[in-house]
Amino acid sequence: MAQRILITGAAGFLGSHLCDALLAQGNEVIGVDNFDTGSADNLAHLMGEARFRFEELDICKPFDIGAVHGVFNFASPASPVDYMRLGIETLLVGSAGTLNTLEIAKKYGASYLHASTSECYGDPEVHPQVESYWGNVNPVGPRSVYDEAKRFSEAAVAAYHRYHRVNTHLVRIFNTYGPRLQANDGRVISNLMMQALRGEPLTVYGNGSQTRSFCYCSDLIDGIVRLSKTDEHEPTNIGNPVEWTILECAREVQKLIGVEGDILFQPLPQDDPKQRKPDITKARRLLGWEPKVMLREGLEKSLDYFKACVAREKNGRQSTAA
Ligand code: UDP
Repeated sequence: MAQRILITGAAGFLGSHLCDALLAQGNEVIGVDNFDTGSADNLAHLMGEARFRFEELDICKPFDIGAVHGVFNFASPASPVDYMRLGIETLLVGSAGTLNTLEIAKKYGASYLHASTSECYGDPEVHPQVESYWGNVNPVGPRSVYDEAKRFSEAAVAAYHRYHRVNTHLVRIFNTYGPRLQANDGRVISNLMMQALRGEPLTVYGNGSQTRSFCYCSDLIDGIVRLSKTDEHEPTNIGNPVEWTILECAREVQKLIGVEGDILFQPLPQDDPKQRKPDITKARRLLGWEPKVMLREGLEKSLDYFKACVAREKNGRQSTAA
């Protein structure tokens, strides 16, 4: 049955892909964003779509867009560079913003799915990360504005289920990439792709032995939509469990673009997790879900997007110079 759905952070990387997926299933979607880190470009293709409506608003203040069947809360700065630049905003959206959207779900009896994160595990001492692990988070370090806001959100979501019986869902999202990732958000995939396409050296922080596990956006969205249709209220990891060192990842990008280029080793940021890999046993069992797109293929699928970003940068520079 077609539903009326609210998506916060709709102009973001994942929010916009989620709008596409839920519209493709025949639903009506109301997207909201305050454009702190989102981009109108990500939604431009939906502006003629009758079942889509967009409202620019800040979810940190109470709001009401009318009755909905479902809420997907995807609003937050998400790259380390962005959330450290917007530290207070990140704390606010992960606390007041989450509570305001939970109130909407409570008021209208809507289901609720919150975009949580592998950052809840901090710099994990349990590997791979299983949902029952409580994490190793520095509560006052530079990443804490994001990690603790996301952990507070999880507590708030769990409480609205416990006290108000809201049908809540918590997805812990591991590193995800694909078209619409902000080209300049400082994340590893966007940095490496942009640098390789510009013919610049690739920046690797530390000695590049730290690991991440990269999920292509269509796999992630598929897992999330499946989770939203269950009665599971406890956190569920969604990610691709194939683990890469950052140096291997840089070499893979170089191979794809066909550049030999240098690696520029730079200092490792404080509290940068040494390892990250999801245990997806639960998602496999509960959702019958499995990632299908491996890193090489996902990078290929993202190539045209990053090429367009580099071309836009060049055009921008030319018009400023003119
Ligand atoms: N990283 C890197 N070079 C870059 C950007 C990031 O080596 O240009 C490293 C970063 O230190 C981290 C990993 O890549 O170990 C992933 O960083 P990202 O910012 O994408 O997200 P995180 O997983 O840390 O939230």
